[in-house]
Amino acid sequence: MTISTENLIDIKNLNFNYQTSNDLQSSESLILNKINLSIKHNELVAICGPSGSGKSTLFYILGGLMRKYNGDVLFSGNELKAFDEEQLASFRNKNIGFIFQSFYLLPKLTVLENILLPITYTVSDRSSFENRAKEYLKDFGILDKMDTYPGKLSGGQQQRVAIIRSLINDPDIILADEPTGNLDSKNTKQIMDLLKTIHKKGKTILIITHDQEIANECEKIIYVKDGQIDKIQTKDTNKIVETKGSKFKLKIEKTPIRYMYSFKLAIKNLGYQKMRTFINMLGIIIGIAAVFSMVTLGLYSKERILESYATLGVNTIGFTGYPNWEMRATDESPKVFKSFDWEKDISPLKKIFTEIKYITPTLTTWDNSVGYGGKLIEQDISIIGVNDSALTMMDKKFLWGNNFNFFHVKNRDRVCVIGFGIFKELFSINTIPLNSTIQITTNKNTTSCKIIGVLKQVSSAKNEGGDPNKQIYIPYTLFQALANFWSREIRSVVLQVHNKDQIETVAKNLKGFFNRKYGKSATFNINQDSLLIYQMNRFLNLFTILLSFISFMSLFVGGLGITNMMIVSIKERIKEIGIKKAYGASLKQIRTEIIFETMIISVLAGFIGLLLGFLSYETMIYAGSKFIKDLKFIFIFKIEAFALSFISIFVVGFLTGLIPAYKAEKLEVLDALRNE
Ligand code: ADP
Ligand code: MG
Repeated sequence: MTISTENLIDIKNLNFNYQTSNDLQSSESLILNKINLSIKHNELVAICGPSGSGKSTLFYILGGLMRKYNGDVLFSGNELKAFDEEQLASFRNKNIGFIFQSFYLLPKLTVLENILLPITYTVSDRSSFENRAKEYLKDFGILDKMDTYPGKLSGGQQQRVAIIRSLINDPDIILADEPTGNLDSKNTKQIMDLLKTIHKKGKTILIITHDQEIANECEKIIYVKDGQIDKIQTKDTNKIVETKGSKFKLKIEKTPIRYMYSFKLAIKNLGYQKMRTFINMLGIIIGIAAVFSMVTLGLYSKERILESYATLGVNTIGFTGYPNWEMRATDESPKVFKSFDWEKDISPLKKIFTEIKYITPTLTTWDNSVGYGGKLIEQDISIIGVNDSALTMMDKKFLWGNNFNFFHVKNRDRVCVIGFGIFKELFSINTIPLNSTIQITTNKNTTSCKIIGVLKQVSSAKNEGGDPNKQIYIPYTLFQALANFWSREIRSVVLQVHNKDQIETVAKNLKGFFNRKYGKSATFNINQDSLLIYQMNRFLNLFTILLSFISFMSLFVGGLGITNMMIVSIKERIKEIGIKKAYGASLKQIRTEIIFETMIISVLAGFIGLLLGFLSYETMIYAGSKFIKDLKFIFIFKIEAFALSFISIFVVGFLTGLIPAYKAEKLEVLDALRNE
């Protein structure tokens, strides 16, 4: 609402009550009751009245520090209620200079820093303001106190500093609430003279006082009694009321959040409470150390445990079918099983069970040997007949060459892929044996076979099938041509599913499928290893989650410590926050300052925690390596565990600051400042 006005301030029908803003019916209980008044440009006004008459209340409303009033408070036609919180902060910052009875200087800031508080929130280049501050300090005779802390100054000196602070942003209006209330008569006179000088330079000044002598020095005296205007007295001054050409205009700007300042301030604040901060940091240090080490150990042990079972490959199921020797003549069966038929039994499975990705027969016998260039190995050799997908499925890694393909299998080609151990024993170490022909013997049948691939060496984990480095893979069709009548039949297949969660159901359904097909004439079995791995995997995941959960709980408790500390610290800083708000710190700014504090605590503590976590899990692995035979000491770094801990640090920093920030934001300036 903009109305044309010559007045700087218009107050219309202002009613106010502290209890409930809506409860304004009973006029006896009102703190401010139907106030109507206006103040012109460049007036020096006293608001005079006994203690408890509502003067300070009016001061806070005029200063834009309290908005729950009824009626209108207009500054050159602009109603204060129309501003949002941010605009209101800017309104105070740019247009009003506050002077309080108890000075309200921030004890942790020097005189100069106190003076510069109002520009901290709006201006990035302080130097011109610093010069202005120094000029005032010189004029007021306290330049030598520039770097002193307020606690070391006399009351009169403190109020001079407060006056300079109110002027530093060059506001048009100065609001002073009992500015001389805490001063002796000599200082009172000096401060009044200063205010009068400032007034002569073109400022509008409202002095709230219960002292008639002070009121008498002003051009206009507004007497307040019991929340109402008693009378208004205008002194006959010889002042030529000049409109100064340009009319007063409210200055409202968008104020940016000062991140760098918030950061420095947060560090400074933490420095004041080193011991308390450190003790509270311990909670986060331990929490992050727990998260990092427990998650790492969980992942690591899962990996170690599964590794020793993983020779089958991942997500694979071994499946066998044997004729049932104990079948009685009376047992009925839809079909009689002898062995799997690739075309009829196995190949169609991929269409029936869409979960299946690869499937291969596996044919083996005992009593194998292999020879090359006069050398012969007869010990521990496995010759395994598979199709082209087997090696992919088992995740075998090639040192040289390639796997055999579909056509090799189809054409029963004499090709093979050998394990590293066989290469080592048959060939000199600096030859590459690809395309060399070796002699393989199984079931007393020998054939020559071209090496098309050599597998990388694998650590020989426990594996009932013998040394995995001494395996020779050949197309199963070739195997069938060599083996005897019993060994050439397919009774064992290995298949791989797309996704590990399908293992259990596919295994069960597969068994059901063949049982229905062959009835009692056969026994079908799922290789327990694959199920075991699956179940163990599930258990180990659960175990890791449980460990993580416990460590997150400790982090949570650590976080609570920080929140608690900040809430206490905000209670201690109530006045500081009130003064900052009065001088134009926006809610966002206050919030940022607090969240920065918890962030810094959390990041500092978190990084120490990461280091501690690393040291503790390495210590555990070291200790383990002393007691457990197979466990070697190694440095491990699990990126997942690290990332989780790292993110947690910032989440904790942010979350722990939220409640304190909210509390600080919600703080009413007047409650803060009246909190003596
Ligand atoms: P003055 O500044 O003239 O001494 P105030 O404006 O401080 O008077 O107070 C006016 C009245 O409002 C007093 O009766 C006081 O008790 C009451 N009052 C002041 N602050 C509060 C508050 N936060 N809650 C409730 N009542 C208050
Ligand atoms: Mg008062």
